[in-house]
Amino acid sequence: MQSAETFPEIREAVRRLCAGFPGEYWREKDRDRAYPAEFVQALTESGFLSVLIPEAYGGSGLGLGAAIAVLEEVHRSGCNGGASHAQMYTMGTLLKHGSEAQKQAYLPRIASGELRLQAFGVTEPGAGTDTTRITTFARRDGDHYVVRGQKIWISRAEHSDLMVLLCRTTAREEAARPSEGMSVLLVDMREAVGNGLTIRPIRTMLNHATTELFFDDLRVPVENLIGKEGQGFRYILDGMNAERILIAAECIGDARFFIDRASAYAREREVFGRPIGQNQGVQFPIARAHVQTSAADLMVRHAADMFDAGEPCGTEANMAKMLASEASWFAADTCVQVHGGFGFAEEYDIERKFRETRLYQVAPISTNLILSHVGNHVLGLPKSF
Ligand SMILES: Cc1cc2nc3c(=O)[nH]c(=O)nc-3n(C[C@H](O)[C@H](O)[C@H](O)COP(=O)(O)OP(=O)(O)OC[C@H]3O[C@@H](n4cnc5c(N)ncnc54)[C@H](O)[C@@H]3O)c2cc1C
Repeated sequence: MQSAETFPEIREAVRRLCAGFPGEYWREKDRDRAYPAEFVQALTESGFLSVLIPEAYGGSGLGLGAAIAVLEEVHRSGCNGGASHAQMYTMGTLLKHGSEAQKQAYLPRIASGELRLQAFGVTEPGAGTDTTRITTFARRDGDHYVVRGQKIWISRAEHSDLMVLLCRTTAREEAARPSEGMSVLLVDMREAVGNGLTIRPIRTMLNHATTELFFDDLRVPVENLIGKEGQGFRYILDGMNAERILIAAECIGDARFFIDRASAYAREREVFGRPIGQNQGVQFPIARAHVQTSAADLMVRHAADMFDAGEPCGTEANMAKMLASEASWFAADTCVQVHGGFGFAEEYDIERKFRETRLYQVAPISTNLILSHVGNHVLGLPKSF
């Protein structure tokens, strides 16, 4: 038995929308590493990307419970939310820490889809997961910041009007603590590209529109600082909980896609005069994938409930992301195995989804870093770094 569907009307509407974007649409985009602009446009027009924006700023203010229903269904339908999911949550930094003037200026236009705020610039080649070691620096010059440095793996930068950028405004050595001295700037990509910002796409094993960014004295108006100078790291951590819970929901959707497909094939495919699913060696891994996915799903919903109640949920968001990404990966591997040779055929969409779901054990945070968080912050074990 599966737990009751939350937001059934939203789920049904998402399923209907996704039916217009079948496997062949995604296969073509995947082959060309092209941005699924038509799908993103349809999601935007449906209003599903603004469920986290309060009604006062033009969104539907439904919270993370509704957002996870949207992304789970997108992924269960065989589609992929990676091209646009950040439009849902990147604005959280602005919503929580921006001034009223900034919120009025941007949020209604983000809610309507007129402005795309779906680029989030944190990772740097020299720092990796150790974010306090970022070196992209914003130097104050009159009423502007002048930004120099480099970012890597910044997704959707070419398809975004705005970017939330984390950079240093005080060098690590001069800050009171390593986690201080970083600030968040809202960069207008339309003005920045060609005027101090260069974007270089990175081709990866999945179609993800990810890029490398080079800042060469990019001028950003001081009024685009979000919150207080030097406090940016804390603001970014805040926003990461929503991201991890939403990506966990995508993993649950992927896992259910693989389980649906594997079950259907195992019922139909006959070898040695009986359905392959009659063999316990085939049936049990699919059942195990379902058990693992159901457990992970409960953790995702729990984390989302805590987030919506305004409770601290860093640990739960991390645990949800870890469990869901491992459940989707196990389900993916099982689905390939159940399909035998056909698991490798592009037209079945399984190999594409297999590649896509592998990402989530690395990004937006890798499994080891989650285990380190639990070991240190929850269990009181010594920190390893
Ligand atoms: C397709 C894609 C899209 C992305 N999109 C974005 C984006 O939009 N914006 C953004 O800012 N970033 C983005 N990222 C970056 C992503 O968040 C990082 O890749 C991820 O957090 C891992 O960091 P890293 O690649 O620097 O790995 P590293 O930090 O170099 O780590 C490499 C490996 O070593 C392990 N490791 C490191 N230190 C320890 C330790 N102390 N103990 C145990 N294990 C350790 C890690 O778990 C990992 O497996 C994206 C990445 C990818 C691949």
